[in-house]
Amino acid sequence: MPHPNDPKLKSFIAVDPASDFPIQNLPYGVFSTAQSPALRVGVAIGDQVLDLALLESEGLLRTGAERCVFAKPSLNAFMALGPKVWSQTRARISELLRDDHPELRDNAALRKRALLPRRDAKLHLPIAVSGYTDFYSSKEHATNVGVMFRGKDNALQPNWLHIPIAYNGRASTVVVSGTEVRRPRGQLKPPTADAPSFGPCKRLDFELEMGVVVGGVSPMGEMLTEAQAEAMIFGFVLLNDWSARDIQQWEYVPLGPFQAKAFATSISPWVVTREALEPFRVQGPAQNPQPLPYLQQKGANNYDLHLDVSLRTSAMKAAANISRTNFKYMYWSSVQQLVHHASGGCAMNVGDLLGSGTISGPEKDQRGSLLEISWNSSEPLELPGGDKRTFLEDGDSLVMRGWCQGDGYRVGFGEVEGTIRAAG
Ligand code: CA
Repeated sequence: MPHPNDPKLKSFIAVDPASDFPIQNLPYGVFSTAQSPALRVGVAIGDQVLDLALLESEGLLRTGAERCVFAKPSLNAFMALGPKVWSQTRARISELLRDDHPELRDNAALRKRALLPRRDAKLHLPIAVSGYTDFYSSKEHATNVGVMFRGKDNALQPNWLHIPIAYNGRASTVVVSGTEVRRPRGQLKPPTADAPSFGPCKRLDFELEMGVVVGGVSPMGEMLTEAQAEAMIFGFVLLNDWSARDIQQWEYVPLGPFQAKAFATSISPWVVTREALEPFRVQGPAQNPQPLPYLQQKGANNYDLHLDVSLRTSAMKAAANISRTNFKYMYWSSVQQLVHHASGGCAMNVGDLLGSGTISGPEKDQRGSLLEISWNSSEPLELPGGDKRTFLEDGDSLVMRGWCQGDGYRVGFGEVEGTIRAAG
């Protein structure tokens, strides 16, 4: 049987070369329809969704589990079956969708029930998020922020090149693309004020990140090897770590971000598997000084993954691109983040979500937050039509896209969108 990543594979479903969802991708999501409101697992193929719960109930898709895993409101039951089952299932779905395989192709009645237009599917949060941790692993982002607030000579904190820095975020407010984001309220104390006040955030920002979806378990007290951490990564999503810069500035000493980051984190609805990203693996930046032995890596664990951010204000007809960068610039890899996360004895669970940290590249147009794009408000962003932005205003819609470019096809993530609603 051909490998599901084979660039030559074709589906009997026509897929545009510019589509994010060719047969080489097969990302998992959770959906429902108006006619059938039960949440269930599906796979995106071209502009269609393949209903895995239906295929499982018809006996065409077997995972070896005693109970069904796809007629569920999240991917967690499927993820808990482990990486061998993930691979076998993906290979079987690929087979069922191939243009030279008759089982589904030639069964019109089944096809009619198992495939539906993506526009008719309501997409839900794909995972039950067990825990959410946000890293800070782009050297360019950490340097930009450091230069702004501490000057060029002290840009990186002394620990940064040794530890994948992170804080524990909130799983409870991870939401799927399309969910409105209400402007947070909080304690604000501008440098010019004598005392703090409570009110709507005035410096609301986005952070362009990738999210790692953990599909395995590491017991409390145990460390992870590079290979174990790798095997636990089920897939990736686009992630917007909405940030209230003014709340953060006042609250973060000495324990780090709290309310500034806890009000919303948006993710894309389709989880692209680690396996689908294999062909796009690249070596990350050289790490100097060499990390401590437990963080050293043998494998190339970055991905050549293009990222694009666009913004549409309520006055604009179309969104305008405001940043283009690449996941490959990340200094600390997702595997190193996961190894470090477990290194103190922290248990990791199925459904844990790890934010990569804001992804900025070396160039000015590759910055992954408005804080950096407007250089802390000193260089306002000018948008087509004359609107200017230093931070996000009510009614602004922010869209992130990501994809790996193959030869004649792309393995993409779709998008994560969020519109800002007034604090009320
Ligand atoms: Ca972040």
